[in-house]
Amino acid sequence: MTTKQAPRKKKLRSAGFSNPNALKLDIPTPPTLRECLAQNLFGSGISPRGYRELSVQHSKQLIERYPSLYRLADASPVSSSPPFAREGFACGDGWFAVIDKLSAKLSADPNLVVSQIKEKFGLLRIYFELSPLPSNEIEEGTDIALAEAVAESQMTCERCGKPGKHAQREGRWSVKCDACTAEEARRKSLRPWMERLLAGLPAAPGGRSRLDLSPEHALALLEKYPGLYREAWTAPTSPASRFAAGGFEIGDGWFRLVDRVSARLAKDPALHVVQVKEKYGRLKVYFERAEGVPRDPRLDAEMKPALDEDADESERTCEVCGEPGTHEERHRWWSVRCGPCDQIDEISAACERIGKLVGGLDLATFSANEMIQDAVRLALVDIGRAAAGQPSKSRERLPGIGWDRLEHFKDVTAVKGMPVDELWRFASEEAPVLERKLR
Ligand SMILES: [Zn+2]
Ligand SMILES: [Zn+2]
Repeated sequence: MTTKQAPRKKKLRSAGFSNPNALKLDIPTPPTLRECLAQNLFGSGISPRGYRELSVQHSKQLIERYPSLYRLADASPVSSSPPFAREGFACGDGWFAVIDKLSAKLSADPNLVVSQIKEKFGLLRIYFELSPLPSNEIEEGTDIALAEAVAESQMTCERCGKPGKHAQREGRWSVKCDACTAEEARRKSLRPWMERLLAGLPAAPGGRSRLDLSPEHALALLEKYPGLYREAWTAPTSPASRFAAGGFEIGDGWFRLVDRVSARLAKDPALHVVQVKEKYGRLKVYFERAEGVPRDPRLDAEMKPALDEDADESERTCEVCGEPGTHEERHRWWSVRCGPCDQIDEISAACERIGKLVGGLDLATFSANEMIQDAVRLALVDIGRAAAGQPSKSRERLPGIGWDRLEHFKDVTAVKGMPVDELWRFASEEAPVLERKLR
């Protein structure tokens, strides 16, 4: 569930001072609840309530099914408007079925308009616009329907809709099932990188891209060895714990190796990992031992050489893709790469070279300088050769690169014959994008 904030107030466009009415005319009307939902934004513009807000999809369904009851979805959401116009359905998605059932009963009375619907003290609360007053008969039916819905909300997990318990949790009343209670406690202690992983993003924000452990692999390790990687969930043992700060700082190619190392370490329940990283092109896993737990000498004796063997194997395993690789100094860093992944680094380096050649130039200067043009053409041929060496596996791993086109640049004659403006476009526009994509 996303928790984007609805754009309540758009910025005023600069109003022309010559026209005294310009400012007035320029004041935009904030979008209504229906308009927010149409853009997949939540209703509540004031504070996103996270899971305690009905999903966009369910909100839309209710507004469409019961247009008269929820007609305030089209009202202007200014501060004097009823809360429903500003906040929409201010309760968790688990109550959708309860609200749907209640709405079907309430919509029998065309005069009823919901002015607020929310969770309060862990129960469903609904308020109506008072005029025109409904007839007594319908009012009675409304009361019964409301009482039933509130009773139902009291037994329904507000988060997932399964049977839940109405109880005070950390000083606040709510209805939750056991699973959601546990999940929430777990999320509270989450590290920022864990939140990113759970959202399917790489752990490092804007980080190492090609050298990030994929979210699926990271989560698989955390799930398989919860004790060993307990710092993903619990308070770190020391402020210096790198694992708590950043998670797995290795490329996806080493996933299998880390899995194997983890299985070895997990045999000793006193151990937990405080850092997983690459150093001088070698896998490093640092761990700590809980105090007061007796050591198992046999386990200790077999663990050390096994771990050394795993680390040795990392020096023969491409950190990007896991294929056999060579350990050497590249671009002033030690790393392990297979042939194709090494060549991708070459493409990056060629793009960087092109960037340095044309940086600060304009087309006219570039057109007049054949020496620079030739240097760019040379770099282009390097890119073409490296691209031609990419097997389909690594092309699939990096989609959106336009491999076939890059491959054409290996043809020296074609590159020599490339018109200057085309060369310029590649150097000034495409090369920087390509470099970013391959980083
Ligand atoms: Zn639940
Ligand atoms: Zn590789």
